[in-house]
Amino acid sequence: CGVFGVVGVADAANFVALGLHALQHRGQEAGGIVAHDPEQGFNSARRFGYVRDNFTKASLMETLPGALAIGHVRYSTAGSKGATAIRDVQPFFGEFSMGGCAIAHNGNLTNAAALRRELIERGSIFQSSSDSECIIHLMARSIQKNISERIKDALRRVEGAFSIVAMTRTKLIGVRDPLGVRPLVLGKIGDGWALSSETCGLDIIGAEFVREIEPGEMVVIDDTGINSTRPFGPQPSRFCIFEHVYFSRPDSILGGRSVYETRRQIGVELAKESPVDADLVCPVPDSGTPAAIGYAAQSGIPYGMGIIRNQYMGRTFIEPTEQIRNMGVRLKLNVNRALIRGKRVILVDDSVVRGTTSRKIKDMILDAGAAEVHFRIASPPTAWPCFYGVDTPERGKLLAANMSEDEMRDWIGVDSLKFVSLDGLYRAAGEAQGRDAKAPRYCDACFSGEYPITPSDMIARGFEM
Ligand code: SF4
Ligand code: MG
Repeated sequence: CGVFGVVGVADAANFVALGLHALQHRGQEAGGIVAHDPEQGFNSARRFGYVRDNFTKASLMETLPGALAIGHVRYSTAGSKGATAIRDVQPFFGEFSMGGCAIAHNGNLTNAAALRRELIERGSIFQSSSDSECIIHLMARSIQKNISERIKDALRRVEGAFSIVAMTRTKLIGVRDPLGVRPLVLGKIGDGWALSSETCGLDIIGAEFVREIEPGEMVVIDDTGINSTRPFGPQPSRFCIFEHVYFSRPDSILGGRSVYETRRQIGVELAKESPVDADLVCPVPDSGTPAAIGYAAQSGIPYGMGIIRNQYMGRTFIEPTEQIRNMGVRLKLNVNRALIRGKRVILVDDSVVRGTTSRKIKDMILDAGAAEVHFRIASPPTAWPCFYGVDTPERGKLLAANMSEDEMRDWIGVDSLKFVSLDGLYRAAGEAQGRDAKAPRYCDACFSGEYPITPSDMIARGFEM
């Protein structure tokens, strides 16, 4: 998901709509905005579909006045997969004795099922199926006198990944979980401030990037400025390395690193680790493009656009049902036959999850007359599900959980298949020595199976680490 907030500028909701549009790649199912105006109070709008189709109409934006607003774009992860109801669309809102609070959450809480049971037993009335709603109910049970203290109380009880943007009548609030698994950045716009999942959300509104919200940090922003606190005990950060591989936009800067540069460097590492004699390096667009550029530069093999992407399709993976995803590959990608015919082709993609995408692309490339097909993957084999906000399927459906690399190559049906090593990925992400096995700098659980936060709900349901 993507979260965004603005305080201290007229018509804040317009800026939030723009920010969410730039973060659309983080969630395409639905979006919501809450704004506050001293005369009209809180107003909200929640809609299915793209931000640009819902939040540019004057009629809708006119109902969201005020100089303070937050928003959310949704992509359903663990919980109510696929069947998103409008009641699951954030921001969520709660009325407390000291006023209202809206909250937008990116990430996944790993103890939400247990918390929900406990809260329902004690009288909470849940409105949605979302893990994030627990935070509002935990806030309601807090005895603290102001809202930001209540948010702290609530967040000390949750486990998992959270980058949160919240608002009261007068304050914009941002928090990151102690490990900083999901991103959150701070920007300056005029006399006001903005919070965004990624820096590309600041760029679109002309805000200046100030800094990241630190792992475990909470910022409370109002007329008087920024107040920063550390509600949780200090822990070494574990940013999601998959944000660099796939999830974030390549024009964003995360953890002080250009996402594009990391991806290009992964391609360089891949070419060093797994060279092959071929005529053409082709990306699987768009997510494989920077790595393919790096692979071509390092190997000296020409780069070409052998697969053309239909720009009017969104991210296929993010389609919640398997059926739509299967159709999606053909709707989204087509082979550039004139370029491919007779060539030995290296295809570079970001990841293999179920393997269905790779298999279909291989079919298309061979149909177009390629002489050989070699897959190079810009991440290690995805052998473990993510419980922190990326929608990977259960272990049984992950190709790499069930097959060796050679078996995957044969199942996909290509001449060779190689993944970047975990060390190579870390080098590309700025760790010259590769992965420090004792204290890895990133979360890489979907590749290593080492979960930095115990997924307690999943363990209670029988998941074995
Ligand atoms: Fe990111 Fe993978 Fe960790 Fe999930 S498990 S947070 S996708 S690195
Ligand atoms: Mg892709």
